[in-house]
Amino acid sequence: MVTFRFRMAACIAALLLFIAPHLCAQSETAIQLTVDATQTPQHILTIHETIPAHAGAFTLYYPKWIPGDHQPSGPVGNVAGLKFLAGGKVIPWRRDLLDVFTFHITVPEGASSVEADFQYLDGGGGPFGGSTTDKLVDINWDEVLLYPAGTPAQQLMFAAHLVLPEGWKFGTALPLESASGNQATFKPAALNRLVDSPLVAGEYYRAVDITPPGEPIHHEIDIVADSATALNMPPEFQKQLTNLVAESGKLFGARHYRDYHFLLTLSNHTAHFGLEHHESNDSRTMERAFLTPNGRRGLGGLLPHEFVHSWNGKFRRPADLSAPYYEAPMQTDLLWVYEGLTDYLGHLLAARSGIWTPEQFREYLANTAAELGPGRPGRTWRPLQDTADAVPGMFRGFSLMNWRRGVDYYPEGDLLWLEVATIIHDQSHGKKSFEDFCHTFYGGPNDGPQLKPYTFDELVAALNQVQPYDWAGFFHERLGSTSAEAPVGGIEAGGWKVDYTEKPPAFAGRGRFAGGVNAAYSIGLRLGGDGSVQDSIVGKPAFKAGIVPGMRVVAVNGRSFTPALLNDVLEASKSSTQQIQFLVLGDDYYHTYTVEYEGGPRFPHLVRVEGKPDLLDDLAKPQASQK
Ligand SMILES: [Zn+2]
Repeated sequence: MVTFRFRMAACIAALLLFIAPHLCAQSETAIQLTVDATQTPQHILTIHETIPAHAGAFTLYYPKWIPGDHQPSGPVGNVAGLKFLAGGKVIPWRRDLLDVFTFHITVPEGASSVEADFQYLDGGGGPFGGSTTDKLVDINWDEVLLYPAGTPAQQLMFAAHLVLPEGWKFGTALPLESASGNQATFKPAALNRLVDSPLVAGEYYRAVDITPPGEPIHHEIDIVADSATALNMPPEFQKQLTNLVAESGKLFGARHYRDYHFLLTLSNHTAHFGLEHHESNDSRTMERAFLTPNGRRGLGGLLPHEFVHSWNGKFRRPADLSAPYYEAPMQTDLLWVYEGLTDYLGHLLAARSGIWTPEQFREYLANTAAELGPGRPGRTWRPLQDTADAVPGMFRGFSLMNWRRGVDYYPEGDLLWLEVATIIHDQSHGKKSFEDFCHTFYGGPNDGPQLKPYTFDELVAALNQVQPYDWAGFFHERLGSTSAEAPVGGIEAGGWKVDYTEKPPAFAGRGRFAGGVNAAYSIGLRLGGDGSVQDSIVGKPAFKAGIVPGMRVVAVNGRSFTPALLNDVLEASKSSTQQIQFLVLGDDYYHTYTVEYEGGPRFPHLVRVEGKPDLLDDLAKPQASQK
């Protein structure tokens, strides 16, 4: 509820931010936004807005810095057919010369509002596609609106109206005003809440209640899919998701939302990712994810992570990632907390809720430690801190990521925060745990979706409140390190160590080499099923021989490449040195590269350190049922 006193305070704050006073009055009237999604099968969304305005120069923004993306990634290139009208007349517009997300118009005398019309041409098609298919649509409101410059997002009210194809149903955390037929009207919401409340809709839709017994706050999963079959979530998975909600309550000791919606899109024709929101998450994966063990395991890496963000990322967010509106740049230096800690807690909750087995949790950690140690020579020149700092310029990588490094603050966050958990345990002689930190840092009353920003110093102070330690020194050392070794202190303090054996892992972890060959820790290669080189670890035998990503292995030792053939050759290298000849196609030219190798297949696993307590498995055990 917005009271008059609150509004006055907001206006005073706006004045302090050098924002023109007339814009405060503007926030009194909601911007009317209509999104017509009836052409979803054609990947076209049609937008109409009525925006209160004043005569004279008027500037509108298309959202640029998208929360959770941590970069200026608003898809402004998908905007087409843009037209402005005032008083029934078309107004010319001009894009800003220094910022392509900014549009300038002049509102004629006498007009008190501007009509904006445009289409959003979705990128549809393929795993890197967009948000629309023949059977479903994911509405991210930031993609389908313009907003006036000069007012913080939390003071700009929007009244959203949605038109869907006939018969489609929808799910969202955005409070509904009314719905009739294929149309829905939502209660007016501030721009930041609107952008934070996406919607999924489709012909094939299913909502499932996953509120645990005794939990007062409603939780549900809203699933849209490209087929009715894909909606068949196994009852066991529903139970595990309910466990996840219960485990989150135990871990954080507080919630900061009115209700919570997992918005899950199952399609091979949308982009695949997860994007966190305060009261929901927008998670998208393969159509048949519920129907295979691999798919369900993948959901264990996705849904708990996005859920954890409601606390870590939305309720508590680094101050310099908490921009007041979407054109203001973000600073990404604390992503090792925002994403790194979320990664750790997400995987921990996947294990505690039973979505992952304890073995899968350990295999994940083993793979992560290997990937960031011998699999990541780039760590010798580029410290972890820089992988966070550089995100706005280089979120997506290209070849030789093992040498460039990518968004390593995610997986290295797992190791870093596991180590923090074991330090708290050891320093307090088992009297304190990471849960105590979570209750301190993420606790407090549930006032709905609130933002409580923090700085590095405040994070360190909260840790010290739980367990005094040189946390600042610890983080600075880990974040600035250029050691070739991955930080495995948490694994070892947990009673385990990383070992390499010929047994393939049960859990392949990150990276796309399913159906191919993972020889990263033997000859240093990851190949697709067709021989395409997906990774070649800098400094390892294959790289030294000349093989790099982008090439394709055509033959091994004179015979046409198959994954089984290369695995046989590696197997033979257990007992004697092999001269492995790779016939490789690169840029239309064939070359033969000779790799000399002895040692057989090598895969990372965790093995117990005899005599040390098994803290790792204790951490991964269900906690909510122990009450
Ligand atoms: Zn995340």
